[in-house]
Amino acid sequence: DVQISEDITFDTMLLRPSTLEGLRNCGFYKPSPIQLHGIPLGKCGFDLLLEAKSGTGKTAVFTVIALEKIDLEKGLQTVIMAPTREIAAQICDVITQIGSNYQNLNVEVVIGGIPFQEDIMKLKKKVHIVVGSPGRLRHLIQSKVIDVTAVRLLVLDEADKLMEKSFQADINYIFTTLPKEKQVIMSSATYPEVLKAVMNKYVQNAQHICPDSSTVLLGIKQYVTIVNCNSNIVRQTQYRFEELLKILSKRKFKQCLIFCNYQVRVRDLYRMLLREKWPAEKLHGQQEQNDRLDALKMLQDYKCRILIATDLAARGIDASNIDLVINFEPPYDWQTYLHRIGRAGRFGSYGIAVTILSKGEEEMKFKRLLKSINGLFELSSFWDQEPITNFDD
Ligand code: ADP
Ligand code: MG
Repeated sequence: DVQISEDITFDTMLLRPSTLEGLRNCGFYKPSPIQLHGIPLGKCGFDLLLEAKSGTGKTAVFTVIALEKIDLEKGLQTVIMAPTREIAAQICDVITQIGSNYQNLNVEVVIGGIPFQEDIMKLKKKVHIVVGSPGRLRHLIQSKVIDVTAVRLLVLDEADKLMEKSFQADINYIFTTLPKEKQVIMSSATYPEVLKAVMNKYVQNAQHICPDSSTVLLGIKQYVTIVNCNSNIVRQTQYRFEELLKILSKRKFKQCLIFCNYQVRVRDLYRMLLREKWPAEKLHGQQEQNDRLDALKMLQDYKCRILIATDLAARGIDASNIDLVINFEPPYDWQTYLHRIGRAGRFGSYGIAVTILSKGEEEMKFKRLLKSINGLFELSSFWDQEPITNFDD
């Protein structure tokens, strides 16, 4: 899915030797299209709207731009905002890895749910880049724990999510408190038309970079499976669960992400799967912060094979071995659908997505939802297909 230009390597992009070496250490030799186009323009100082499908390497675009500008003598220069704590932690890891050759480079994550006092301690030493959730960042800036006078770059990852009302007050505060002369980079897989006006408030003459013309995720095969549970609404979850078990046992997978629409359902499924000897981890907003981060770490370190989650995990999460995404129930909008299934098929790897639908209204509704991204999907019933073992076609 990710098309890589044959002859262009990161060597040709006139990066600092430390950046180049860091990219190599991560196994990144050739830029993806968004990296190829985004990095040079970003280095020139343009504001950017990065728009590219899930799993195409957007994190490295703003990481490289931030590193190329860094002056290790100075204090905080880059502020990165992300909508969930998990994404913030993940971005910090990527910067730390690519930036591993920058001696004394200091990147910190500041997120709600962790004691404020811990952040104060972390930020006592010289920190060059902070990654955080808007709420905690604002709190720290307001309390003068963070000095923003030297900030020259502001990044909004999953920017369309950050434009939602609940974040607006915090983001506006941060935006207006940072120095006026700054570069702004927004990054997202989807840019709903209605949000473009809001986003444009934060950028000036932004370069809109969208190397891929469609929203299709070519590496991901999409299926639906329909369960007939209308006759007994009360037992809906049970019917879906039986279907889920069938999928899990029929389909070979390395790691699987199961999405539910509600936290209670995540908890129920978690218990039900354990009972069926399918050990799983869970991730939802009611958990303790550390449990959330642990669950994600287990997934990324390949210590668990199944993660059951709410849409908290729909965006941004990068675990390269996820090759099966199951929607235990369909999401409510197409953006969420694309984000969910985009957790498989990271950086050109292959995966499948199966959405469990109840016959009738829900089935109709989901098909209508997919119509809004019409023609892009060839949905087939999961059970009509032989389990796919190779993806050569
Ligand atoms: P996005 O934010 O666009 O959804 P990520 O930045 O999380 O995607 O990257 C997806 C995956 O691709 C990560 O596992 C990352 O390590 C990998 N990746 C990114 N850039 C490259 C590259 N140039 N070469 C190889 N792998 C890459
Ligand atoms: Mg991302």
